[in-house]
Amino acid sequence: MIDLHVHSTASDGACAPAEVVRRAAGAGLTVIALTDHDTLGGVDEATEVGRAEGVRVIAGCEFSVRAGWGEMHLLAYFLPPDDSAVMDFLEDQRAKRRTRAARMVAALGRLGVDLTVDEVLTEADGGAVGRPHVARVLVRRGHVDDVSAAFRRYIGWRRPAFVPKDLPAVEEVTALVARAGGVTSAAHLGDRATRRSIARLMGQGVDGIEARHPLHDGVRAEQIAQLAAEAGALCTGGTDWHGDPVGEPNRAPLGSIVVPQAWLEALEGLHRQRSDRGG
Ligand code: AMP
Ligand code: FE
Ligand code: FE
Ligand code: ZN
Repeated sequence: MIDLHVHSTASDGACAPAEVVRRAAGAGLTVIALTDHDTLGGVDEATEVGRAEGVRVIAGCEFSVRAGWGEMHLLAYFLPPDDSAVMDFLEDQRAKRRTRAARMVAALGRLGVDLTVDEVLTEADGGAVGRPHVARVLVRRGHVDDVSAAFRRYIGWRRPAFVPKDLPAVEEVTALVARAGGVTSAAHLGDRATRRSIARLMGQGVDGIEARHPLHDGVRAEQIAQLAAEAGALCTGGTDWHGDPVGEPNRAPLGSIVVPQAWLEALEGLHRQRSDRGG
């Protein structure tokens, strides 16, 4: 059983990488891709624990990029841990995340909501900081009842303390990943997955489309897989697990979404081609 989209405390997940792997093993998974936002920081720990637990860990991450409609998430697989161009790029994205966290805290302060950048960075514990960390501090401080409410009231899209990311172009990230031998897939497109958008993304160097995801029901996942196949794109899928759901929308347990072995083999085939060519 394979899950190609999982998060840990290296970004905004609830479980440490080791714990993620143990939970994955418990759910019957034999392959996971650890795809934290803008970091490979959890991959070493997960890989090591995976060896003991019988879970193969694919080194991945989830980039945020600028699509025609706004922010899009782009999954990347088979990233070499020693590629300095990739590492530098990710470090830059994480630095921008810290700046953005400070801007969110300032915006919240203007709304009379008291919290500090330090509290948010402590919540992220050295990992890639994101809105969920801000949300958890807001809950702890008693400003909102739960994480969902924090997004709804303050930091969700179009809410008063929402701060957009400074996003790289799709082509910049696909070129970076492909040059390192990696493979990319456009994450949880939902209604944005159309013949036209998929063709455009492929023109921008995207290799695959995430068909199976908690945001897509079974019928939609099948439609997206079909659109991807017609466009000559690869297919991926996964739970996008961030920990046990606590009243958050579009969350699913580990093991509830799995991908066919053939999808992984196609990804590996492209990865091998790119590596053989020396990146
Ligand atoms: P960021 O990358 O900082 O913009 O944070 C985005 C992350 O916040 C996503 O990857 C999800 O993990 C989480 N998220 C987004 N929307 C919500 C929501 N409405 N409730 C809870 N978590 C959310
Ligand atoms: Fe996330
Ligand atoms: Fe995402
Ligand atoms: Zn994700």
